[in-house]
This record gives sequence, C-alpha cells and structure tokens, in this order.
Amino acid sequence: MKKHLRIFLAYLCALLCCALLAGCTLTLPGAQPQSTATPTAQQSSLTWLAAGVPCAVNEAGYYNILVPNNGALRLLSLYDFSAKQHRILCDKEGCPHTDESCGAYLPALSLTAGPGAVYAMCPRYLTDAADESGLADFVAMDAGGQNRRTLSAVSDGWDFFGIDKQYLYGFCEDAFGRISLADGTETYLLRNARSAFWLWGKVAGVWNGQFVTVQWGDDTRVDAIEIGLLSPEGAYTALGTVPAGRFLPYSGSVLLGGTLYYIDNSNGAVMGFSLENGETREVSRALCQYDRDEGQGFHSCQRWYLSTAGGALLAMVYGPDDTSGNIWDESLYHIDTSTGAASPLSLKREYRNKSPEDEAAEGPGWGEPGFVTPLAEVPQGLFVIRAYEFYMDSYVDENGQAVEYETSRPVYALISAEDYLAGTPNYQELKDLPVPA
Ligand SMILES: [Zn+2]
Repeated sequence: MKKHLRIFLAYLCALLCCALLAGCTLTLPGAQPQSTATPTAQQSSLTWLAAGVPCAVNEAGYYNILVPNNGALRLLSLYDFSAKQHRILCDKEGCPHTDESCGAYLPALSLTAGPGAVYAMCPRYLTDAADESGLADFVAMDAGGQNRRTLSAVSDGWDFFGIDKQYLYGFCEDAFGRISLADGTETYLLRNARSAFWLWGKVAGVWNGQFVTVQWGDDTRVDAIEIGLLSPEGAYTALGTVPAGRFLPYSGSVLLGGTLYYIDNSNGAVMGFSLENGETREVSRALCQYDRDEGQGFHSCQRWYLSTAGGALLAMVYGPDDTSGNIWDESLYHIDTSTGAASPLSLKREYRNKSPEDEAAEGPGWGEPGFVTPLAEVPQGLFVIRAYEFYMDSYVDENGQAVEYETSRPVYALISAEDYLAGTPNYQELKDLPVPA
C-alpha cells in the first residue's frame, strides 16, 4: 500500500514537473526557426502552447495575474524581458493599484500570450459570485495590456494548447475546438478529443502545421501507444504505434524537430519516432544504467522525463542513490541525439533568505534545490526559475491575530541556451516587485 502511494506520488510529481518544464517555442518574425519542417510543408503560424507558465509567455515577457492580499482584486502584470523587471501593466499616472479603477484590473483566471497580443478568460463568477452561467468573457489586448476589448462570451471550460494568426486551439467539454481571435466565435471541431488526447494522451507539439498527439489510452487500450497528427480543422491521422509497455506516458516524451523522443519504460532507453517516415530508432542507452527495478513491475525510469533547451534534448533521471538510500536523487543530462552520449548538466536553483527552520515544509523552494530547467524558449534565450526568494507573510486568524509564516516566490531569469548547456550561470535576472508588505 505504502509502495503504491509512493509510486503514485512519484507519478504525480513527474506530471507536475512536466507541466512546469515543458518548453514552449515561439514562432516570431525574425526568430531563428526551430523546426525542421520539410520545404513542401505549407507555411503555418501554428504554435504549440505548453500548459502553465509557458502558455502566458511571448516575446514581450511572461504575463501574470497578481492577486494582492485581500484576494478581491486581480491585476495584470508582466515580467518584462526588455526592461528585465516585473511590473503592473497600468498606465494611469499616480495610480496606487489598489482598486478596480486601476488600469491593470483584469478579473481573469487564465492568460494566453501570442505574438504581440494577450488573451484573457474572465469567468463571470469572478465578478458575480452568484453567476452560474458557465460563461467567461474572452478578452483580447495588445502586448502592453492596452486596447482591451471583450470579443465574446464563451464557455469558461477551455484549456488551450495552440495558437496561430487566426485562432486559439484547445479543449472544451470533451471536444477539440478553437476560438476566433477576430471575433471570439467558438467552434467545436472534433468530439471525444479531450479524453483521447488529454486525459489518456497528450498533445506533444506542432509539426508541419499540425498538432502531434500521443494516445496511450485507458484500460480499454492495451495493445499499443498511437502517435498521430491533429489538424487545425480537427482531422486526425494516425502515424504509427509503439508497443504498450515500451513508452513512458505523460512526461516521458518530447517533440524535437520531426522526432518524438520517448523513454522506453521497460529498460530506460531513449527512443526516437520519426514523424516523417513512422520509423522508430534507439537514440541512447546511456541512461539504462540508472534504471532500477523497484519490484512489482515498476522501474525507477517510470518517473523520468524528457525536455528540450535550444534544440537540445534533456533527460531528468530519478534514481535511488545506493549510498544514501534516497529515492529522490535526480540528475539532469543533455542527450546527444546523434551519438547517444549523455552529458550531465550542473545549474541548480538557489535559495535566498531562507531561514534554517521550516525544513519540513513542502512546495516550491523546500527540500534540496532542484535543477534549473527551461520554462519556455523565447528569442532572448531560455526563460527559467533561477532561484526562490523567501520572505515572511502573514494572515489574520479567527481570533483577529496576525499569524506570520515563511513563504517563497520564484526569481525568474533569462539565460542563453549555450550558457545553460555549458553550466555557465550567466543569467539576466528579472527584478521582481517589492515583497508584499
Ligand atoms: Zn494602477
């Protein structure tokens, strides 16, 4: 029982890590093209958006919804990649940013950034607690937060994973669909897609103007993992399969160029599935030595994950450390996809102003500092969390007493892919707002 719980937690952790670490590549005018799209492929602006932080990153920076202490106010802010600072996107002179008259006031739950624009989903229940319509205002604005306009009212249940010049793509209810960036019209294109490509599968990226999908399926699908393409119009094409038990679901695969790299969870090998010809090849056996059978058919490689940095393939490996007995020991490698060699990476996050107490607490910034991993790839380099800054916060308990507690916030930075891979800590740090009083 304990073992199963541990394995479940390990899976959950790998999932969360994956969500945090999956890189997002922006296609921008003048940016170095990353994909190895074939010359015959139609020019497409379709871009994959990884869930979480990368979804709200564009060439201007990382957009965030600040929720100041009382929780009633929501303000749009930007970790500005040019100014290298975090700022509230309000252009009202002398504004104290303390109420809804603030120019940055935006009752949004999620943000999606595209080239030169930001889109916000503003569920009506955020401004009217009694609202049960299930609707959200779909709001568009310029990269600086200006020229705000509500395009339409849409379902508040959208999860987005792609954008092009015309649409935001995502899942709503169980359908794959899109929302027009011109007028906010929502269209469902393919039913029963969320369960296939999200709950029991993933959208891994974009290749040749289509989404690359993986389906491992629930208990009803036991034979094989299926890799396919989902067009922006909702047409699905299967490309090939990998035998069940030879593909690590969720975090164990990543798209790089025209190859879907994945971990063979029967032995820890890194494999490559060519989207071009449907062929599978063994890329590296360098990590197999770290795979340990934990018994009951579980291997330590079942909580590994793959990621990318500047066109390089990265593999995070968790393995039991024989000397300490610690099962959470992690190592990060750069896998050379032509030779299969694995080079260890060295940049780890820092803790700042952390008090020696609270060792038992959990969450970001507790435990041993982890590796720096790319959140998103932008023309300015890799967007990363380089440190966690600790500070004291407080809340008022039921007796009206202020209770102090230690918490942390991420310190974001940009670093070139070259410096990152070489382990050179040449960061351009983004200065944060003052710590909340
Ligand atoms: Zn303001």
